[in-house]
Amino acid sequence: MQFALIDQTRVEAKPGLKGTCPGCGQLVIAKCGTHRIHHWSHFNKRECDSWWEPETEWHRAWKNKFPVECQEIIMQDQRTSEIHIADVRTAHGLVIEFQHSHIDPQERNARQSFYGNMVWVVDGMRLKSDHQRFFNNKSQLFPEIGKPFNLHRPEDYFPAAWLRGFIPVIFDFRGLEGPEDLYCLFATRLGYAIVTRVSRDTFVQIAANGELLRWFLHMAKEITNVEQQTVKRLAIQRQRQANIDFNKASRMLRYGKGRR
Ligand SMILES: [Zn+2]
Repeated sequence: MQFALIDQTRVEAKPGLKGTCPGCGQLVIAKCGTHRIHHWSHFNKRECDSWWEPETEWHRAWKNKFPVECQEIIMQDQRTSEIHIADVRTAHGLVIEFQHSHIDPQERNARQSFYGNMVWVVDGMRLKSDHQRFFNNKSQLFPEIGKPFNLHRPEDYFPAAWLRGFIPVIFDFRGLEGPEDLYCLFATRLGYAIVTRVSRDTFVQIAANGELLRWFLHMAKEITNVEQQTVKRLAIQRQRQANIDFNKASRMLRYGKGRR
């Protein structure tokens, strides 16, 4: 955790400080070694948020692009009292989770249903194979900033683990020579994805002013429409084909009998 409470004020970890966890109210100790980024750690060694992971510089740098009052937001399930800490929650209620490490699909789904309107920002530099795949094939990607386009075979560019599920995923490949734009991907259930490119500054700006949330909700609706229409069209095609096959078979039976 980046923030703990001391006298009801959110404070960053500094050597020697003690505070309370804003989630569970337990004692937390400032950890300010050289090995890991300065953080607060529960004195009893048990994090109250079972999804909490050690933060990286990448993580912290992203969170700090947002106002302090939008970072590390405690969220509680009214029914089960379960507590989780959202990395960022904008004033418009969009949760942004910055994900460096691998996450199994079950936990991913659990987080998505807990947070509701959320997006993932994924560190594309964690695995060498991930960023190699992207930078090798990137020259074939020519999206205009902000203009979504259909990407067939998204697995040729992006880590396959993130290509299932309905929630938008934003890939941060950081850039080997200067900052690389972010790629925002919506996976469809039709085997292709919708991708758009957005600069880092624009992303932060539209996340903060609510535009990003509106756009995601709009895209989700559009994709659902396309998926439903496709399913309907395929069903009609199948029915037509079945009718043709049936007519052909009955003709063959009739004429076949006559010739015998
Ligand atoms: Zn706690």
